[in-house]
Amino acid sequence: MMVKEMTRPECIALVSAGRLGRLACSRNDRPYIVPIHYALDGNCLYSFSMPGQKIDWMRENPHVCVEIDAFSSGREWRSVVIYGKYQEFPDTDQWHHQRVHAWSILEQHKNWWEPGALKPTPQAIVSASPHLFYGIDIVDVTGRMAVDEDN
Ligand SMILES: Cc1cc2nc3c(=O)[nH]c(=O)nc-3n(C[C@H](O)[C@H](O)[C@H](O)COP(=O)(O)OP(=O)(O)OC[C@H]3O[C@@H](n4cnc5c(N)ncnc54)[C@H](O)[C@@H]3O)c2cc1C
Repeated sequence: MMVKEMTRPECIALVSAGRLGRLACSRNDRPYIVPIHYALDGNCLYSFSMPGQKIDWMRENPHVCVEIDAFSSGREWRSVVIYGKYQEFPDTDQWHHQRVHAWSILEQHKNWWEPGALKPTPQAIVSASPHLFYGIDIVDVTGRMAVDEDN
């Protein structure tokens, strides 16, 4: 077994093929990490969320990390770490294009909105849904892969 660095194109290929990432953010020296679904387009990971802790924290500190991995049969694996910057797409004319774009690429998966929309506690009934779209702009990316030399 050997561990190698992945090239940027190899990293981007893994991120592009995946849709589940672990999003890490921090506030006041405290880390917080949750699984999310995303869609990659260009240099941005697009995602959907309801208001909550991760959004509050990323609004306060937009510097985040996203980890994405894939395991093959046997002992082989690949793992990518993205250093990125949170950018919210508010429901305004300025961000309209980005919101629609995020929606259009996320909705390519059935029930894409469900994990981000459901909360364990009943949500207040309001006239407009508070859901939001955001992007993580990729600032830097690193990747490592374990290769089974016996194969
Ligand atoms: C496969 C998968 C895909 C998902 N996709 C999305 C997505 O695309 N968009 C999205 O917004 N959410 C997604 N989720 C749910 C996500 O992981 C969070 O649970 C959710 O976004 C709520 O986060 P929050 O910060 O708003 O939590 P809040 O509702 O504000 O609650 C914060 C509190 O709940 C705890 N908590 C929150 N989430 C989790 C968790 N997942 N596990 C354990 N404790 C938790 C925190 O530690 C904290 O104490 C997905 C989850 C899974 C498993």
